[in-house]
Amino acid sequence: MTGTATPHSAPGRWFPVIGLEIHVQLATATKMFCRCEARYGAPPNTLVCPVCTAQPGTLPVLNAEAVRLGVLAGLAIGCEIDTVLEFDRKNYYYPDLPKGYQISQYDRPLCHDGRFAFELPDGSRREITIQRAHLEEDSGKVIHPEGLDLSLVDLNRAGTPLLEIVSGPDLRSPAEASAYLQAMRQTLRYAGVSDCDMEKGSFRCDANLSLRPSEDAPFGTRTEVKNLNSFRFVEAALNAEIERQSAVLDAGGTVIQATLGFDPDSGLTTQLRTKEEVHDYRYFREPDLPAFAVTADWIEQLRGVLPESPVARHQRYVGVFALAPEHADALVADKALGDFLDATVDAGASPGSAARWILSEVLRLANAAKRPLDELAITPARVAEVVALVDAGQLSLQASRHLATAVEGQPEVAVRELAEALDLLQVSGADELTGVVREVLAVEADLVARYRGGKTELFHALLGAVMKASRGKANPGTVRELLERELA
Ligand code: ADP
Ligand code: MG
Ligand code: ZN
Repeated sequence: MTGTATPHSAPGRWFPVIGLEIHVQLATATKMFCRCEARYGAPPNTLVCPVCTAQPGTLPVLNAEAVRLGVLAGLAIGCEIDTVLEFDRKNYYYPDLPKGYQISQYDRPLCHDGRFAFELPDGSRREITIQRAHLEEDSGKVIHPEGLDLSLVDLNRAGTPLLEIVSGPDLRSPAEASAYLQAMRQTLRYAGVSDCDMEKGSFRCDANLSLRPSEDAPFGTRTEVKNLNSFRFVEAALNAEIERQSAVLDAGGTVIQATLGFDPDSGLTTQLRTKEEVHDYRYFREPDLPAFAVTADWIEQLRGVLPESPVARHQRYVGVFALAPEHADALVADKALGDFLDATVDAGASPGSAARWILSEVLRLANAAKRPLDELAITPARVAEVVALVDAGQLSLQASRHLATAVEGQPEVAVRELAEALDLLQVSGADELTGVVREVLAVEADLVARYRGGKTELFHALLGAVMKASRGKANPGTVRELLERELA
């Protein structure tokens, strides 16, 4: 976390109050009210139809998958779910909004009254309220080509489903806001409702901030910084706004409620418009979409299929798998990595050994191949076989690293066959090793005599000699036992 200093949040100065509005693009195949593909990166205006370009006489049809993902998201972030769905028109004019209104939810949001817990960078736990999370459609994009005296409109994004998640005014510092945002993104990714890719705009945030003279004073007037699309910008914009509002208040002025933009180059917030009031939007029920009821049973069914949360997974890794907390952190941070571990354990591997091996060898292979885990040739089942050989003392950790590359490179050959072909398996059979140990003791009779004469530190030299004689394939534990027995 970056976070520049916030001098004005020191006691005796101004205390920030922050609430975030997060827009999450729900991962549906098609748009919210038509059958156009919802996909990022297509040539401009190729994913459009009469409905999402607002041709007269067209009617919206609700995408059930958007509702399902919205409910899953709401459950994942601890909200209550409304069983009645109503949509409202939010009227405003902008060139990227061809209808002249946005279909949204005003007084009956799909999700409400949530509690969301997350961890701060120092490891302490915070819980904040989620006021509401409602469904709405995204707008298109206006592009201002540099050097040209015109603007272009791309409606590919118009009508893709969004969930807007509104936090309570419960956050108290830019760093806390950033931690909340990161936890929220991880939770939503785990729930499988969105890729939450900030660069593609599928996870973006408006940050509301006010200042007050003490921690129990009434809230001050807030401003809202729009469309922040990186964690760093959220922190930087909030810090800039703390500076700006502090200066206004220090000079005896009043903060004016306004909507601001953030310029990453200057690091400053700039006013876009003074705040519009709710009545400016002339909200009314969307007449083209009838109220739609879902059953409580269906919601409970979804709760049942909701994937494990990152917090629960972390608890399981530490509590049940007995992983070191830093291993659990690393495995939970990337859902695909944790999924890989779980599949490896399901295939019979011991969790601790599997975790260590995945974090070192599987990650190394993925980095070398520059591929995501699920595109590697090495599978959890094969990792489980390697780990079983290591755990059984048949393969040294060192040798397992050589084997990793071979297992990735020759997916058609069985793991054990590869290990044998590469001559990597340890000789741990006591019978076979006893012979080697006796040979070595005979050859090193001089060392043995001095060892028996009291130079017990020579044990290591003898151990090394046996390992060498076995060409590194002996299991050191077994060798130690045999040596102790033969020397006794
Ligand atoms: P709007 O549509 O006007 O942006 P919302 O109700 O959607 O209003 O969102 C308001 C956001 O501002 C919420 O996240 C809320 O927690 C936050 N907020 C409300 N009052 C304050 C305040 N005084 N200081 C900081 N944040 C605030
Ligand atoms: Mg807002
Ligand atoms: Zn369409």
